[in-house]
Amino acid sequence: MESFIGLEIHIHLATETKLFCGCRARFGDEPNTNVCPVCLGYPGTLPVANQQALFLGYVVARALNCELSPRTVFERKNYFYPDLPKNYQISQYEHPIGRNGFIMVPLPGGEVRKVRIHDAHLEEDAGKMIHAGDMSLIDYNRAGYPLMEIVTEPDLKTGEEAEAFLIHFQRVIRYLKVSDGNMEEGSMRCDANVSVNFPGKGLGTKVEIKNLNSSRFVKKALNFEIQRQIGVLKQGGTIRQETRLWNENRDLTEVMRTKEMANDYRYFPEPDMPPFEPDPVFLEKVEKAQTELPDRKKARFVNDYRISEESAEFLIASRYVADYFEEVVQIGIEPALVASWLSGDVQKLLNRHGLTLDTSPMSARRLGQLLRLLNEERIHGKIAKKLAELVFEEDRDPEIIMREKGLEQIVDFDVLRGFIKNVADEYPAVIHSIKNGDERQRGFLIGKIMEKSQGRAHPQKLQKLFDDFLSEVTA
Ligand code: ADP
Ligand code: ZN
Ligand code: MG
Repeated sequence: MESFIGLEIHIHLATETKLFCGCRARFGDEPNTNVCPVCLGYPGTLPVANQQALFLGYVVARALNCELSPRTVFERKNYFYPDLPKNYQISQYEHPIGRNGFIMVPLPGGEVRKVRIHDAHLEEDAGKMIHAGDMSLIDYNRAGYPLMEIVTEPDLKTGEEAEAFLIHFQRVIRYLKVSDGNMEEGSMRCDANVSVNFPGKGLGTKVEIKNLNSSRFVKKALNFEIQRQIGVLKQGGTIRQETRLWNENRDLTEVMRTKEMANDYRYFPEPDMPPFEPDPVFLEKVEKAQTELPDRKKARFVNDYRISEESAEFLIASRYVADYFEEVVQIGIEPALVASWLSGDVQKLLNRHGLTLDTSPMSARRLGQLLRLLNEERIHGKIAKKLAELVFEEDRDPEIIMREKGLEQIVDFDVLRGFIKNVADEYPAVIHSIKNGDERQRGFLIGKIMEKSQGRAHPQKLQKLFDDFLSEVTA
């Protein structure tokens, strides 16, 4: 059996205000505090398009390699539901911002799939219904939020592929800084369409799955639905075109509505708003807002910095981490060293303190300073780890902490010779057996000298001076 999956993804655009009024677009405020006559749908009010939302919309469409509309038109999509105060949603239909795009998506197993984008359009979000006991409450704060809907062609095949698509897509929009793409908070939502068919027969009858608020659920729901549909077809049945809901408690999809109940939205151009025609200055700004996307960045990191695929994958997961990495490299630290510190010691400390890199006391400048101290052999590996911990605890520069706590390596030959002489005087018999070739005793004595220096003796220099010392003493 073959399977076909197409996704419809909604993202909240990161604007200050709503799409057609000046109300604040913010998550988590007191219900019904960010509302006005426009977003509450009072008669006689007029929508005014938010230029920033249009801009971000074009930025997304451009990044998805869409043909950009020279004249985008808002249209009314008519239906009734309590969360939609106007009884129509202002959306786009015939002239979306972008169409016929594509995105290259790394899939599990290594294939990079070209997933075609049918269109990308701008619309307003609805309010939020809250069902509590036998009451239904409504919060209109979300009504009028700028939403970008991205519709893919059915180019994905499995739940795993859909999940990989969403993770990649989320990275892309975060790189572009157009949305925080947070699925738990509803700033990125996904409906999944899926059909199966006998090999070579092309698309089957599609079922749409709603209520998917994490990429893991998308994967589970699609794999469940593919198996269900295969079962129906194998028994000679037919698939009904319907909308189903994912029931996360029972791990299955359930019928929500069938095609007979489908809406006819009677789209028509919004008479209260002129079409938007981007001028060259606007389009140039859209071009400038494009940024190197995660897959490109990864290839460049592997190539230019000669780091492993895994290291690069770790670094590009967030744009902040990738930029931070390059900042430390600019300071003149070897890329592989920076990468291994970021994924190792720094990550461990972030976990311990419950922080992310952008909120941590270990700025790029401070990590650069720490690694330079290590490179210049002013501290050694163990002390560097300790110093990193102290930077997290004290929120101060590593060099200052090193000076204050006297953590710098001791390289002064006279001081090192002093330690050697002291310890040698304490253990004359041990010196004797070392001269006779007892390697174990040698390790013991070096340990003692290290201790005397409080762990600060420069290890290689100490070894060298110790050899010199031995050859000078008479057995
Ligand atoms: P509708 O008219 O019901 O909105 P569309 O043709 O606009 O359907 O497609 C909506 C989504 O469903 C798109 O993501 C598309 O890729 C996907 N899709 C359409 N037909 C199929 C199919 N037969 N099998 C799987 N996905 C499909
Ligand atoms: Zn408003
Ligand atoms: Mg459609």
